[in-house]
Amino acid sequence: MDIKYVPTICPYCSCGCGMYLVVKDGRIIGQEPWKEHPVNEGANCPKGKNAYDYIYSKDRLKMPLVRKNGAFKESSWEEALDLISSKLKEATPENFGFIASCRNSNEDAYVMQKFTRVVMGTNNVEYCGRLCHSPAAAALIPAMGSGAMQTSQPEIELADCVFLAGVNIKETFPLIARRVLRAKNKGAKVIYTDPRKTATARNLADIHLQLKSGTDAALINAMMSIILAEGLEDKEFIASKTAGFDELRDFLSKVDLKQAEEITGVPLEKIREAAITYAKAERGCILYDQGMSQHYVGTDNVRTHANLALLCGHAGKPGSGINSMRGQINGEGSGDMGCLCVFYPGFKRVNEETAKFFEDAWRVDNLPTKPGFTYIDMLYKCPYLYVVGGDPMMAVPDVNNVKKALEKASFLVVQDIFPTEISKLAHVVLPAATWVEREATHTWIDRRVQKINKVIDAPGEAKADWWIICQLAEKMGYGDKFQFTSSEEIFNEMRSCVPQYKGITYERLEKTIGGIHWPCPSEDHPGTPTMFLQKFNTPDGLGHFQVVEYKPPAEVPDDQYPYVLTTGRSIFHYHTGSMTRRTPKLIDEVPRGFVEVNPDDASRAGVKSKDVVTLETRRGRIEAEVKVTDAVQPGLLFVPFHFPSSCANVLTISALDPSAKCAETKVCAVKMKVKR
Ligand code: SF4
Repeated sequence: MDIKYVPTICPYCSCGCGMYLVVKDGRIIGQEPWKEHPVNEGANCPKGKNAYDYIYSKDRLKMPLVRKNGAFKESSWEEALDLISSKLKEATPENFGFIASCRNSNEDAYVMQKFTRVVMGTNNVEYCGRLCHSPAAAALIPAMGSGAMQTSQPEIELADCVFLAGVNIKETFPLIARRVLRAKNKGAKVIYTDPRKTATARNLADIHLQLKSGTDAALINAMMSIILAEGLEDKEFIASKTAGFDELRDFLSKVDLKQAEEITGVPLEKIREAAITYAKAERGCILYDQGMSQHYVGTDNVRTHANLALLCGHAGKPGSGINSMRGQINGEGSGDMGCLCVFYPGFKRVNEETAKFFEDAWRVDNLPTKPGFTYIDMLYKCPYLYVVGGDPMMAVPDVNNVKKALEKASFLVVQDIFPTEISKLAHVVLPAATWVEREATHTWIDRRVQKINKVIDAPGEAKADWWIICQLAEKMGYGDKFQFTSSEEIFNEMRSCVPQYKGITYERLEKTIGGIHWPCPSEDHPGTPTMFLQKFNTPDGLGHFQVVEYKPPAEVPDDQYPYVLTTGRSIFHYHTGSMTRRTPKLIDEVPRGFVEVNPDDASRAGVKSKDVVTLETRRGRIEAEVKVTDAVQPGLLFVPFHFPSSCANVLTISALDPSAKCAETKVCAVKMKVKR
């Protein structure tokens, strides 16, 4: 019997846990712990333990599909790519858009943005990081010089105060939650902001600030005001390492704490306890996620937390900083590779100087010098659209409106491993390989670059994403710029023009269990687990305070829509659910969408658990099964966004953050009706 144990990395969240896949006769039949892997030391969460089942789902895309007379017909690669090539030649730089994904490898993402810029002549390239973590770059590049995570996962255990800001870490990053628990067991205090009483609130937090959704800036301003009143700010750090403190102090001197209590719904004594606990810590570590940042004021929310970290000197040390927790496997890497309309690879800002740099690197002329459209704008403004590895019809707010726009698209290409909601609208659907059917690198949450080897062959005609894009580039007359025969060749071109990755090679990654953290400037550099040890990455090397005034959510409840709706995730499902909904053990745990309703609201509305209700906002209506629970406060409803049949984003509002263009998917006004 030919059984192999092949080491790999989990394809789901951005922790980057190692595991062995058990392979028999070319088929994966099981999963085993990888005890020596430094991220997870043998442990995996329920998703990781069931990481491979979906690969064998019967509805895997195995052949290119071309729409003919309203129905999809299987085609050859030749036919599909000829059609796409001829249609994309009709497009202009203004009306073409490319949407990549957090699930693409670094090599895929690099080729996709290069295709968009070189072949299509536009910066209209984005990925789904725009929808969740764009406020990190918008707030933290001016504040500290980078939007990436600042400490490494193991270093979290060094913190003596962990501030979990809008991150239900027990469900969304289970193996980082274990680090927080270890810190707590050594005496660290855990502060947690979340409108819901989640597993994190019940089992990990010492201080749960159950704020009203979207009131983070008011809360943090109040905390900073208390810290200054108590004289607990880090005066030496502020004097030597920051700029803009006087403006912040003047602003905070006017903060009305009683008003902050009313706005946030958090008792002032609890705000005070959290403020003093964080300020007195030796190493305070802020870990934040979409509960804090996925608002139309998301950038402001991140700015206030950055102010808090700078005020208390909690940055530039292992186990400290303000750390953006990107949820998906390559949430960091796809941004690093330049799948953003305002950044070329390596977060080089779009402008003439950067375009010239890449014209030289890629031996091309006339690269675009102006920012392109952001993700949501592209869905409405680009009738020629190429979407890889994501499902905007599930992930974007106000889905009914998105659908209307996409139904009018002149030409929509979708490239994925399964049919999705958006592929139903496509003109051509292309079959892609999964994470174990090709060789690639990804960059996980703490800037950790790891390599994944090919384990099995892709089914049918499914191909690696980068291969498909290179074939298309050749059809369009740019084959000489995309002559890659392996993912390693792509990686080597990328690292020649992205300084953060310069010293990372496939050979080094093969030998380094747990990978290498960027920045890694040379091949003899060990990588950088902690950022800003000497100074911040801003032009003057200082951390910059940015004054933020609290603004209320874009839509608040009224007589017609009396509840607040918030959305989020379950430990058993991943993003839009296309992989986990095809995994029997995970779908057994949470088979369908639901709405959490407080017992008081349930009794007033006359509903009980398992009843089906209609949820309606100004944008649309869904049905969902009721789950009565005190996890939500009266007046708040919660719906997970993994299920097309109860698609939360039919309801959400597309009010956009003016800086980051991230949408407000965490607050809108909704009504609930019992379905009789
Ligand atoms: Fe996979 Fe994340 Fe679970 Fe680790 S914590 S096993 S990376 S889903």
